[in-house]
Amino acid sequence: MDRIITPDITEDDLFLETTLRPKALAEYIGQEKAKGNLRVFIDAARKRGEALDHVLLYGPPGLGKTTLANIIACEMGVSIKSTSGPVIERPGDLAAILTNLEPHDVLFIDEIHRLSHVVEEILYPAMEDFQLDIIIGQGPSARTIKLDLPKFTLVGATTRAGLLSSPLRDRFGVISRLEFYTQEELATIVTRSARILDIPIVPEGSLELARRCRGTPRIANRLLRRVRDFAQVKGDGVISMPVVDDALALLEVDQMGFDHMDRTILLTIIDKFGGGPVGLDTLSAAVCEESGTIEDVIEPFLIQQGFLNRTPRGRVATQAAFLHFGRPAPTSSQG
Ligand code: ADP
Repeated sequence: MDRIITPDITEDDLFLETTLRPKALAEYIGQEKAKGNLRVFIDAARKRGEALDHVLLYGPPGLGKTTLANIIACEMGVSIKSTSGPVIERPGDLAAILTNLEPHDVLFIDEIHRLSHVVEEILYPAMEDFQLDIIIGQGPSARTIKLDLPKFTLVGATTRAGLLSSPLRDRFGVISRLEFYTQEELATIVTRSARILDIPIVPEGSLELARRCRGTPRIANRLLRRVRDFAQVKGDGVISMPVVDDALALLEVDQMGFDHMDRTILLTIIDKFGGGPVGLDTLSAAVCEESGTIEDVIEPFLIQQGFLNRTPRGRVATQAAFLHFGRPAPTSSQG
């Protein structure tokens, strides 16, 4: 079964995301630090009539990196071209994109850590000197010609800044980490989405969804839509607190917003590995989930909530995790 609370984008989300995506910085809720920095840099670049410095946004999926990239372009009054690391297979693909940019345009590369090494090499002079080095011919007669590019802004997104090579990371002037959202911010997002989608919801319903969406707007919006279906079929169409509770119970999303995979991971560490430490690969094999997904998508929220720790010797379940599952707390100082 698909994870209802996967922060990764699904087909179903596409329509929802384009409708609900905030278009201006003022509409973008939360992320005050990233927003504050960007506000200053955008205003300064606009005053000087220059392109904005390259921006790297990192953080778990669904926190608003793509949204922010689009907002940057909007606020700068320029166009945005969007692509992603795995799509740019050859240097020529990137060259084609770069040579089609207009001055000051935003080029958004999602999953930028997945660019191949050869493509990355093209990006360095493009980012630094706005030049494209093209090799013509092969063997001894091969020569490099330099093409001037318009000054553009690269906005890169990745789940972890550490996944980027340091020469690439060093070429970004602005590096912003997106954080999980607070419940108040998420309740505001849910209320805004409900208003746009014309879904009746009581304030307590918004707050309860906010509590159970893993700190992630994409999941909040998805749960809102699923709970709406439930409210229409089982109730009078209004999303009330009991409706949220019943619907999320059916979707197997618990009080903490954990789903089946979160629980499996924590319970595996607790019951099979005595609370840990257990290495990522061992854990991945034990729960049949890719280690990259555990590390980038599932773990960050469990760590942020204080249920899991990353240690040099592996993953450890905290006292809070033992308590949550009604297991006796460990005697050693694991948490
Ligand atoms: P990411 O690129 O980090 O995976 P997105 O930018 O695609 O995440 O965000 C997913 C959805 O969540 C967006 O379509 C938008 O509706 C909603 N969203 C994200 N951040 C915010 C925010 N700060 N305020 C309101 N809605 C947001």
